[in-house]
Amino acid sequence: VEFYLLRVNLTNPRKHHEVQTTGLFMEIKTVAVIGAGTMGAGIAQVCAQSGWKTNLFDAYPEGLEKGMKGIDAFWDKGIARGKTTAEQKTEWSSNLHEFTDMKLAVENVDMVIEAVPEIMKLKCSIFESLGHMTKDDCILGTNTSSLSIAKIAEASGKPAQVIGMHFFNPVPIMKLLELVKHENCSELTISAAQIAGEKMGKTTILVNDVPGFATSRLGVVLGNEAIRMLADGVASAKDIDTAMVLGYKHPMGPLALTDLVGLDVRRDILLNLKQSFDDESYTPHPLLEKLVSEGRLGKKSGKGIYDWSSGSAEETELPK
Ligand code: NAD
Repeated sequence: VEFYLLRVNLTNPRKHHEVQTTGLFMEIKTVAVIGAGTMGAGIAQVCAQSGWKTNLFDAYPEGLEKGMKGIDAFWDKGIARGKTTAEQKTEWSSNLHEFTDMKLAVENVDMVIEAVPEIMKLKCSIFESLGHMTKDDCILGTNTSSLSIAKIAEASGKPAQVIGMHFFNPVPIMKLLELVKHENCSELTISAAQIAGEKMGKTTILVNDVPGFATSRLGVVLGNEAIRMLADGVASAKDIDTAMVLGYKHPMGPLALTDLVGLDVRRDILLNLKQSFDDESYTPHPLLEKLVSEGRLGKKSGKGIYDWSSGSAEETELPK
């Protein structure tokens, strides 16, 4: 157990910096990741690269296999591009272990990061099990992008040790880690998560447990407004996106980003915000609802606001 001083680099938040609280710090050496999908596989990859013994668990063998294969392919691509050495891959692979039994995966680890689908009931049942299966001082992180951390924490029976650890897709590349603290989250848990995030090469921000946190809330509002502008005929999808890319230096336009995240995902977050804040301004635009009802969910379904069948975003006809 060590003490750390608070030192935050405020001038350049992108620069790798020390974000340490005055709280006690428990050193993380072993981690379990629950769910080997898009996010879980990426999180497990970065944990293994950080030198931690990493146990990756998925309830479905095909999910686990897909996740492990994806990590292996990412490392191979890195070697082919000269960004990763064969020695690094050997070392990282030796840190990564696959599990088909959740209890065995989590029972001796210092930190668990959950990345199962965004369903409150599922997350609560997993955290209830984690409460029994993990060591007394284990840090329990959830990668939820919109659900109440306090509710998930309550289910674990160890609320002080639960924190939101919201990573971004693709995890090995995206630098942000949004940490979400709820009322009963301990200082020790916050500092352990901050230091773990830094070790993973992420810049952490600390946000209160309000619906949509800091990222999803702004992101969905921008996307919904861009869809309203498209429906109103302000400009074409490409021109609205180019306006934000060149005029405001966004790396990607709000419509293309909505297609990448998933129209259904963004619609659900808007509905969650509308209900939580009792505020009609979060109502998903009818065009967004229409696209979702037609199965146009974005890049993952081949078509959303854009047509992605050629591999890149092409303008396509929109429903009336
Ligand atoms: P996904 O569907 O790609 O992966 C979920 C994985 O969980 C699957 O492999 C599935 O087999 C597994 N799973 C299902 N039930 C399980 C259980 N009971 N125990 C263990 N594993 C189980 O989903 P995802 O996109 O990786 O999202 C996971 C979480 O991350 C969600 O909470 C989501 O909101 C959040 N998130 C997603 C993104 C994104 O861009 N996809 C970004 C940030 C946060």
